[in-house]
Amino acid sequence: MGLRPNLLTRRAAGVASTTLALLLSTAAVGVVPAASAFSAAPGGACAEPTDSHTNARVRPGAASTHEPNELTAKQVREREADLATALRERANFRAGAGATTLATVTIPVVVHVIQRDSTRAGGNIPDSLITSQISVLNQAYAGGTGGAATAFSFRLDKINRVTNPSWYPIVDGSSAERSMKSSLRVGGKSTLNIYLGELSDDLLGWATFPQRKLSSMDGVVVLNESLPGGAATNYNQGDTGTHEIGHWLNLYHTFQGGCGGSGDSVGDTPAEASPAYECPTGRNTCSAAGLDPITNFMDYTYDSCMYQFTPGQASRMLTAWNAYRAA
Ligand SMILES: [Zn+2]
Repeated sequence: MGLRPNLLTRRAAGVASTTLALLLSTAAVGVVPAASAFSAAPGGACAEPTDSHTNARVRPGAASTHEPNELTAKQVREREADLATALRERANFRAGAGATTLATVTIPVVVHVIQRDSTRAGGNIPDSLITSQISVLNQAYAGGTGGAATAFSFRLDKINRVTNPSWYPIVDGSSAERSMKSSLRVGGKSTLNIYLGELSDDLLGWATFPQRKLSSMDGVVVLNESLPGGAATNYNQGDTGTHEIGHWLNLYHTFQGGCGGSGDSVGDTPAEASPAYECPTGRNTCSAAGLDPITNFMDYTYDSCMYQFTPGQASRMLTAWNAYRAA
């Protein structure tokens, strides 16, 4: 514990992490370690059933003892079986009622800015960071930073500012998170709800995977200062948002499953034994072909290090969209 840089003193240095976790050591970030303000964070995320399991991004050495978004091999098998079921259901639905299979998708986005008060430290980030985040998402998902072009683009429909100290910070897996989401979530399966705030447990963000039955928990939680131009050093170019939305669109981490088995269920992301942090050029942790995919958005490296999805990931996301989220 205590690895999470203190937000108040480190507003200028950056913090956070969460469910689809990317953790940075305090030393690596050059900030003064401080006792976690959120030591009472419930550890419930990992105990939740697979269908509500979330996925996170954390910094190395973060306070959380586990990664809420790390899936076991059994959970991955269950999710892959569920995807196959969802695809069968869709195919039957299309045959009967003529649902459309989409090749390009514009995702409506609603951003909920959770605030403790009207100060920046209390979560009051400017609209300009949010519009910059949407631009980063559109670039990343269009392949504009060097990766594969995906089917997805993002349209900001609304910024919803909510001052509620009992929801701030946002604590992964807490009853407060459930209360927040059930109060605020809008739209159907295809609407992306993003919740911004200070986060528990050194998390940068977390997300839910798609489910056949829409849950009020569906959405993405992102550290407010990770937005482009925010204060989260090394994690302030907006790629936490890119990463978490990758999970929302059904991607696993590139290191899922380690060196063996089906890994992240994507054929063109080389196997990787464990998360990569910072930017370890040339890292190669598995004997299978290919260096570790440290530049992939679904690893845990610095924002400055990650810049791409692969064609296989783009295909997996579109398949999942048509299975789970398309109207
Ligand atoms: Zn993640």
